[in-house]
Amino acid sequence: MTAEHPTLNADKRSVSPLPPGSTLGLFGGGQLGRMFAKAAARLGYHVHVFAPEEECPAGEVSLERTRASYDDLDAVARFAQSVDAITYEFENVLGPTVETANQYAPVRPHTCVLSVTRNRLIEKSFLRSSGLSVAPFFAVASAAELERARNELGGRAVVKTTAFGYDGKGQTMVKAYGESDTAWRTIGAPEEAIVEQFIPFEGECSMLVARGGGSTTFFGPFYNQHRNHVLDLTTWSAEDDSPTAREGRAIGAAVADALALDGMICIEFFITPGGLLVNEIAPRPHNSGHLTLEACSISQFEQQVRLAAGYPPVDPVPRAPAAAMVNLLGDIWEGGEPDWAAVLKQPNTAFHLYGKSAPMPGRKMGHLTVLADTPEIAAETALTARRALRRDPT
Ligand code: AMP
Repeated sequence: MTAEHPTLNADKRSVSPLPPGSTLGLFGGGQLGRMFAKAAARLGYHVHVFAPEEECPAGEVSLERTRASYDDLDAVARFAQSVDAITYEFENVLGPTVETANQYAPVRPHTCVLSVTRNRLIEKSFLRSSGLSVAPFFAVASAAELERARNELGGRAVVKTTAFGYDGKGQTMVKAYGESDTAWRTIGAPEEAIVEQFIPFEGECSMLVARGGGSTTFFGPFYNQHRNHVLDLTTWSAEDDSPTAREGRAIGAAVADALALDGMICIEFFITPGGLLVNEIAPRPHNSGHLTLEACSISQFEQQVRLAAGYPPVDPVPRAPAAAMVNLLGDIWEGGEPDWAAVLKQPNTAFHLYGKSAPMPGRKMGHLTVLADTPEIAAETALTARRALRRDPT
């Protein structure tokens, strides 16, 4: 795959950065878009959100919103004509959607980055052919192929749909002989899937990599703990120069170069005794980077705004020795309306809600960030604050 910049030929296109006052278009209307829009507003940009859903956390805080389906290419063209540059808050934006949009305004990161990252099979193949370490994997197209691949991989494996997977959706474990039929049905018997060796990792971490205008900068690593495949807790240390941090930066730079990146990506890793394996690339800010809003001079969202507007990224300056972030999922509402006063009285706890109306179990409704002297203290304080929210503490 070659990741070339699309030719800039429309009149309104310019390789010079867009001044504040310009309008940034955004595909996707969720919480990442909401925090992007707030960062854009702080820098004086207007945001126009394109999203099909009725509820739109990003649209609530943006100047303009188009509610249309991603395959309504006329609506996409009108949207793209009304903005000066476009970015996105999720990677499953359809190919024809971004290609259409790109005819009218530059899409950043460029559309080739999306064509790699929206399909797990293409992404893993791209990483492997770029010389980067990933879990051994095979492409499979049936339960029988899955069974053969599982054998080949040596037993336990994880089978994943190639597209529209996040937070563990569209994936399941195949542990033993005879489980492949059920696993194949569980992921919806797709036309193609990827099956990976199960990695008994020591931990998981992520790194944000921003590249543009000849410079590459990093945030992280962020150390991540998941619950039911959904991120639960992230911790970060400002002075992290561990082998993991050094390797994360080296791999991050290699991935960004291989993609000819003109924006920001998040790379998720498995930490193993032999080093880092790349699990996934998201071409956008990431849940694990939310703590940069309080912990760094430039948040991941401000970085995305700067890059979308065509400025080079800057190295964020830490504002605290350590930080932790915990997600607030819909589960917190199980015992009734959470005890907001319990958190709002904590001066050191940054409290974010995304304005979603239906608190379903597992749904990301908000998060809490705490800055502290150590990641352990930050994590303990954040977890305590979250427990205090629940009416039925478990
Ligand atoms: P993903 O949707 O690929 O980001 O996977 C979600 C989570 O599932 C990861 O953060 C891991 O905790 C787990 N997982 C995914 N792939 C593997 C694997 N090959 N081995 C072990 N755990 C995995």
